[in-house]
Amino acid sequence: MSRFFDRKFEKLVPYVPGEQPQDRKYIKLNTNESPFPPSAKAIAAAGEAAKNLNLYSDPEMRLLKGALARTLGVDQDEIFVCNGSDEVLSFAFMALCPEGAAFPDVTYGFYEVFAALHGVPARKIPLRSDFTIDPEEYLSLRETVFIANPNAPTGILLSPGDVERILASSPDRLVVIDEAYIDFGGESCIGLIKNYDNLLVTRTFSKSRSMAGARLGFGVSCRAIINDLETIKYSTNPYNVNSMTAAAGIGALADEEYTKSNCRYVIENRAYTEKGLKSLGFEVLPSGANFLFARLPGSDGERLYRALKEHGILVRHFTSPRIKDFLRITIGTKEQSNALLDALAAITGKKQ
Ligand SMILES: *Cc1c(COP(=O)(O)O)cnc(C)c1O
Repeated sequence: MSRFFDRKFEKLVPYVPGEQPQDRKYIKLNTNESPFPPSAKAIAAAGEAAKNLNLYSDPEMRLLKGALARTLGVDQDEIFVCNGSDEVLSFAFMALCPEGAAFPDVTYGFYEVFAALHGVPARKIPLRSDFTIDPEEYLSLRETVFIANPNAPTGILLSPGDVERILASSPDRLVVIDEAYIDFGGESCIGLIKNYDNLLVTRTFSKSRSMAGARLGFGVSCRAIINDLETIKYSTNPYNVNSMTAAAGIGALADEEYTKSNCRYVIENRAYTEKGLKSLGFEVLPSGANFLFARLPGSDGERLYRALKEHGILVRHFTSPRIKDFLRITIGTKEQSNALLDALAAITGKKQ
């Protein structure tokens, strides 16, 4: 820390992203990236847009918002476009938590970081012992609620009916539903924005659309909330989304069949991988995402993580007490899953 660093950030513990090692080639099952390249239409559109990088991107993001509006069946001014969905989440913590924030004790680690960064008091609500969210706990809270659906890193889905109960219980309290992984079999809550002006749904192109490196996310909500987010955007960085990324986003949306077929592949391979893990004795939480959260009873999560790394396979391990025995394993290709299962069989000495 330099002597210039504001003391109010002294205790800030930043988010720790999954490793992106450059030392050797790993089978990367640690950051929930897609194993597939972006749509050819996205790549071509980004290349075309590169020719105009001398110009600023359109701060209103009209073309991209238009394409998103058509895809999602909402109005253009119900959409906020941003530099990865982490940005809209950060803005929500910054500007939409007048009474603090509430979220599960086991969830996306960034929520806690954003709360600390923006000085928002955070209430952490324990998941049930089976790692599901108890909607009852969120009824009538005053704090802005943040729920990842499916939750991360558990992968467990909450039904739109349960989300609606939470929304309806307290119309003057905002609920943010983070749908980073919704395309892998879950049911979106975007349709609820018609009836609830206290709902903000966030989405990303990083996972199902194979564009993690492009940094593109968006939020869907009523016009008034979108305007608030635009106010924050125009007060930080009006050009938050670069023109290559915006063009790639439009290209990806013009190729929905590609996204859907990739998602179908992942869903199928998720079932295959789950079966393989269970046959090795793993306990696997039911996942609606492109990853599995699993533990081997009697085995140490960190030790397994390290042993897999030695086999050239990266998975994610978290140190917080409730989940330290678990591994979060991204679902990539079937070949990658087979390599993982073979390595685990070798490490544990078990037969598949
Ligand atoms: C990956 C992820 C995000 C954010 O992704 P971006 O790449 O910033 O769009 C948000 N929420 C959850 C739960 C995620 O796993």
